[in-house]
Amino acid sequence: MNLMSYQTKILDDSPSSIKQAAEIIRAGDIVGIPTETVYGLAADAFNENAVRKIFAAKGRPADNPLIVHISRMDMFFRAAKELPEEALRCAERFWPGPLTMVLPKSEALPYVTSGGLQTVGIRMPSHPAARALIEQADTPLAAPSANLSGKPSPTSAAHVFEDMNGRIPAIIDGGECRAGVESTVICFENGAARILRPGRVTAEMLRSALGRVIIDDGVLHAVDDSAPAASPGMKYKHYSPKAEVYVINSTAERFREYAKEHTGALCLVFEPSDAPDGAEFICIGKSGEEQANRLFAALREADERGAKTVLARCPQKSGVGLAVYNRLIRAAAFREITL
Ligand code: AMP
Ligand code: MG
Repeated sequence: MNLMSYQTKILDDSPSSIKQAAEIIRAGDIVGIPTETVYGLAADAFNENAVRKIFAAKGRPADNPLIVHISRMDMFFRAAKELPEEALRCAERFWPGPLTMVLPKSEALPYVTSGGLQTVGIRMPSHPAARALIEQADTPLAAPSANLSGKPSPTSAAHVFEDMNGRIPAIIDGGECRAGVESTVICFENGAARILRPGRVTAEMLRSALGRVIIDDGVLHAVDDSAPAASPGMKYKHYSPKAEVYVINSTAERFREYAKEHTGALCLVFEPSDAPDGAEFICIGKSGEEQANRLFAALREADERGAKTVLARCPQKSGVGLAVYNRLIRAAAFREITL
């Protein structure tokens, strides 16, 4: 397949553009789409050739499964075999929204989509353009994040264009993503939710819905490559800018002192006063929500500015902060310095 064979079109999110995008999907091709989490690269989840194009465009390893996006519950039963009681409770509470549930897949769902697994990650997005496209295409859409494998996820159509220009026929521009981090991924274990990837649906929110929540080891730590991963995506290099990122776990004052000793590093901070005088910095905000919203754009901006080293303040490891920390520590290849 010739990867650079497209004149990538940017479409708006009007009904006629959505219709055009749906035709591309129905013809077996792929489209960059906005969702409330990050931009996705979408294909008909049941069309094996179309799904293969997603893996090729991203350079994604074939054993890293894709999330299947639905707009109605009848589509759920095309992709998944069953809806256990605890999954129904989560669907009622968090869908449409940024929660992906891993459940046994239907027989009809191709193994290409599930990365060879017997399970499928499934979610109902809330973004109106994503929902309208699924409706128009009239099929569940397989859609991973629309970045080149290993790079930070895209939170604007411009980011998608940066990575996918020439590799895909079209991108729907639906503005900047509100959440800014990918969906929370969970599976179920004896009625409890196990968080495989944290997101805007937090451990606390899941606990209030289900009572019991387990945070998988892979959320906070590097996963052992030789063991089978609960979520295959966790074993791969992820979210990496070109710069070397270090997560600095300290007070603002100690962070400033450390950054002062490392002149030339770009500081990724919560507020301007975190950075020493004269240092280059990018601010991602004080709340977990703001940080989630800005993190990936900030990592891309660090590359644009030609940063060789990024010193990042360490986010809180709870609430939405856990999702920010989980992405940042991977962007940093697990280089965390506690001062
Ligand atoms: P992305 O779509 O790029 O956000 O990546 C999807 C994430 O969901 C990856 O980390 C996958 O490993 C995870 N995922 C998708 N489907 C499954 C599944 N059936 N079992 C476990 N993890 C999954
Ligand atoms: Mg991804």
